[in-house]
Amino acid sequence: LDLKNTDLKKLADLGQGNGGSVEKVEHLPTGTIMAKKIVLIDAKSSVRKQILRELQIMHECHSEYIISCYGSFLAEPNICICMEFMDKGSFDGIYRKIGAIPIDVVCLVAHSVLEGLTYLYDVHRIIHRDIKPSNILLNSEGSIKLCDFGVSGELINSIANTFVGTSVYMSPERIQGAEYSIKSDIWSLGITLIELATGRFPFCDTLEDDDDLSDLDEDHESNFDNEKYNKTPTHPRTRLSKNINLQEDSLSSMSIIELMHQIVRSTFEEEAEEFVDACLVKDPDERHSPKHYWDSTFNLQGWTSTF
Ligand code: ATP
Ligand code: MG
Repeated sequence: LDLKNTDLKKLADLGQGNGGSVEKVEHLPTGTIMAKKIVLIDAKSSVRKQILRELQIMHECHSEYIISCYGSFLAEPNICICMEFMDKGSFDGIYRKIGAIPIDVVCLVAHSVLEGLTYLYDVHRIIHRDIKPSNILLNSEGSIKLCDFGVSGELINSIANTFVGTSVYMSPERIQGAEYSIKSDIWSLGITLIELATGRFPFCDTLEDDDDLSDLDEDHESNFDNEKYNKTPTHPRTRLSKNINLQEDSLSSMSIIELMHQIVRSTFEEEAEEFVDACLVKDPDERHSPKHYWDSTFNLQGWTSTF
């Protein structure tokens, strides 16, 4: 498909991330509804062309667990990536809207993410690198798909205003700069599943209670308050990430894992608990690869019609 901005009519804003924004658009010549991601890049034209070449691989991804891509093009100074539109949005938005996600759905998320990760790695040797609720999308047909995988190294390097820091979903080995493997995504999946099952980000309490954060003003602190958290339109994650950075050295992974266990115990069914435990094994050699999943008879399509 030869895509250009003049053929794309904006229908709505879908959201804003650190690297750019996403719009719902209609491709006028074909009537196709798409999600257009606009990324402001800070790079020479040779690098931009390299990025476009790297994005080509997205066209070659054919899996029911991966967002399909219609095409990408340069619209100086941006790169636009047109992808499949998912009408129920991402799981961060869903849990903010309806609260904690039912455990059967969380299990299906786990299943779909593992299938998607396995496909990306087995077929294309790609590691996702950014598993989190906002990169897991749902549609009203009951499909769960991954987007924003680390397909273009050049793109990641040249996103203007790149958020270089520690993401709260990053595995211990990645935070420490050690070798990155597909298992790092498993850790991020573990954090993500807890967040969905509990309807809140698992680190909130630790940060709230931590004296090291005394240099944060009241406004920051109040963002961890759950009621405000739900109302605040800004991305609390960025702030949380910054906070983790502040205390990265003193951050004891063990105490956070213990905290997670507590949350998991109070919410999860036994099998799901074991699964999340297995995701959050600190040593990547001991951690599972993305192969394990459940069989489920849960009617996801029916569930999507409830909100
Ligand atoms: P970050 O930049 O930190 O990774 P993010 O993932 O929220 O955060 P974007 O990737 O720019 O940022 O996405 C912004 C929002 O757009 C997402 O939260 C999601 O709700 C929405 N979105 C992205 N892609 C699609 C899509 N294909 N269909 C529907 N909504 C989408
Ligand atoms: Mg995203």
